[in-house]
Amino acid sequence: MSNVVALVTGGSRGIGKATILEFAKAGVNVVINYNKHAMLAEAVKDEILNKYDVEVMCIKADISREEEVEEMVNQIIDRFGKIDILVNNAGICHDSLFMDKSVNNFKKILDVNLIGTYLCSKYVGRVMLDRGSGKIINIASTNAIDTYYPESCDYDASKAGVISLTHNMAREFAPHILVNCICPGWVKTEMSEGLSYEQIEEEKEKILVKRFADPSEIAKVVVFLASSKASYINDAIIRVDGGRFYG
Ligand code: NAD
Repeated sequence: MSNVVALVTGGSRGIGKATILEFAKAGVNVVINYNKHAMLAEAVKDEILNKYDVEVMCIKADISREEEVEEMVNQIIDRFGKIDILVNNAGICHDSLFMDKSVNNFKKILDVNLIGTYLCSKYVGRVMLDRGSGKIINIASTNAIDTYYPESCDYDASKAGVISLTHNMAREFAPHILVNCICPGWVKTEMSEGLSYEQIEEEKEKILVKRFADPSEIAKVVVFLASSKASYINDAIIRVDGGRFYG
């Protein structure tokens, strides 16, 4: 995939970083969006420039703020003139008892996970529609479908919203932009680090392959969906969870 430009939100660590690295390996020019982790983003950039012959750009933007998203997209267009692939990866979660959740915290989760996905898709989608092509890949979660945890009801609702957005965007942007959604199960990143040893063992028991995913195992599916090999995959909600055991 040469002369292709991909923007990955939350690209400084976890699944986002793994996705950036997989794109670079495939010859794609990458834009690493970050909000708080400038040093991590710069480290990913250095790693890529040392290993691969692609262009890399780091841009700070809080994806839940419209003016920052607009400015980020303008900066990318100034440098590359286009965006071929958008991966709406950035996300947050905050586990607490249902009754302990505050409206402000609930809104914060929705603002980043759902509104952030909407804003990036709106501004990047506009650029893609002008060119008549593009691929958008949203990262939701199996929590959005069938793996419920009352402690993350705000997160689960935000990710269910991302699935709904995927369907609506696929219709709005057809036939020019392909929009798909990946629902990971448990992945070994900072997001799942808060679990106790007992919780991890309990969760692993419910997974058919008996382990959490490595971030690269999600990233490879993202890069596949962004490639020409997936030219007829559209409006799909794809579980990447190692198989779940419900018994
Ligand atoms: P992570 O916490 O390592 O990465 C999330 C990234 O999003 C971080 O780089 C963070 O700085 C960035 N981010 C947060 N708020 C932002 C904002 N307002 N603007 C820009 N960037 C922001 O976690 P991860 O596991 O790599 O998560 C990546 C995606 O995968 C998330 O959407 C998450 O919900 C989803 N997911 C993760 C798991 C898991 O088990 N780790 C499972 C299912 C889905």
